[in-house]
Amino acid sequence: MARILIVEDEPKLRQHVAQALVAEGFVVSVHESGASALETLAEHSFDLVLLDLMLPGQNGWQVLDNMKTFGLDSSVLVMSAISDTAHVIEALNRGAVDYLRKPFEIGELVARVRAALRKNSPQQALHYLVGDLEIDLMQRKVVFQGTEVILTKREFMILELLVANCNRIVSKALIAEKVWEVNFDMGSNVIEVHMSQLRKKLNNQVITTRVGMGYCIEGKLVTR
Ligand code: CA
Repeated sequence: MARILIVEDEPKLRQHVAQALVAEGFVVSVHESGASALETLAEHSFDLVLLDLMLPGQNGWQVLDNMKTFGLDSSVLVMSAISDTAHVIEALNRGAVDYLRKPFEIGELVARVRAALRKNSPQQALHYLVGDLEIDLMQRKVVFQGTEVILTKREFMILELLVANCNRIVSKALIAEKVWEVNFDMGSNVIEVHMSQLRKKLNNQVITTRVGMGYCIEGKLVTR
């Protein structure tokens, strides 16, 4: 699932945006300053950055410029209370993929985030089929042996990762990176717990454990 970094100094809005995106199944990293955002961007990859313009310290323009300077090429969606067209044009010219004027309705933000992510990866599959397992990524629906399986958000993300890497071993570290937050405690057994639930929901037939290496789904993957 896509990873989104949020830079917003207004705590309420930051929390509101983060919660809405997490509820949609995105992995988010939240920052109140440009400096902290750039530090994280230098170490981890993100599919999209939501960037406020009026920030204390480095403002959004400087963050955009610094991203370019440091070769950080995540897509940027600007969200700003500055509503005049000149600023919108300026942001798009400086490389932002979209500009959302504040105040906005959260539903519009989510839709624009999805649209920006589609621009990123136009060839992304919408549907996976492996053996008796069928995953509809748009509707977040899983069908196994003809019956719909209800998964939690994390279980769905793990399954999506395993299927996208069909016939390859997916390590616990990769699951931690893609499904959990940036600072995941590798000592915890939370992945094993989720994996055991997920496995049970698929009648223990789909996911193979490779001891000491990770997890794997084998079969012929069909995408569309
Ligand atoms: Ca601000």
